[in-house]
Amino acid sequence: MARYSGPVCRQCRRENMKLFLKGDRCYTDKCAVERRNYAPGQHGQGRIKVSDYGTQLREKQRVKRTYGLLEKQFRSYFQKADRMKGVTGENLLVLLERRLDSIIYRTGFGTSRAESRMLVRQGHFLVNGRKVNVPSYLVRPGDTVELREKSQKVARINEALDGVMRRGVPSWVELDRTAFKGTVKTLPVRAEMTTPAFQEHLIVELYSK
Ligand code: SF4
Repeated sequence: MARYSGPVCRQCRRENMKLFLKGDRCYTDKCAVERRNYAPGQHGQGRIKVSDYGTQLREKQRVKRTYGLLEKQFRSYFQKADRMKGVTGENLLVLLERRLDSIIYRTGFGTSRAESRMLVRQGHFLVNGRKVNVPSYLVRPGDTVELREKSQKVARINEALDGVMRRGVPSWVELDRTAFKGTVKTLPVRAEMTTPAFQEHLIVELYSK
């Protein structure tokens, strides 16, 4: 599947928000949003009047870029969320968090979602004891994700795990560092999905036009 392959930090600057796309660097003062808090390009520092449509579009782009999805894929998640019971915007965020690459990132095996996606594709993980190499695989509460034995010496994964041990994992997942195993305890609720701080109702408004 095609992916955005341009400068990563440019996306955060364009969205005027830290999207946490680059791992540990995002938590340091080297972060481009901290250093240059204006949009990239020639007119980045100019005053721009944003319409309602523009605001809704930007919010959609923020979420889409955070999870590293292209438009078609993102819209199909939205349609699925819309068909589910409950609040569409919330359903959308929960669906995105249920992706295997996102769970691998949240449990700390990868420092970013992009890296986690690559690790999944390379076949490093077992889900409930079976090899899964599909980043979009949707996990369920109670599922376990485990690093395969032959992958337990991979330096970048161990460094990522050490990093998350310092930062902590979200409340809906659990990490057993010594067993290289993560567990999805429950699905996240909206109040737990605070980073980045999205206004998902704007996406619902955009797609409802
Ligand atoms: Fe770059 Fe991370 Fe900062 Fe975004 S949050 S600008 S990806 S360092």
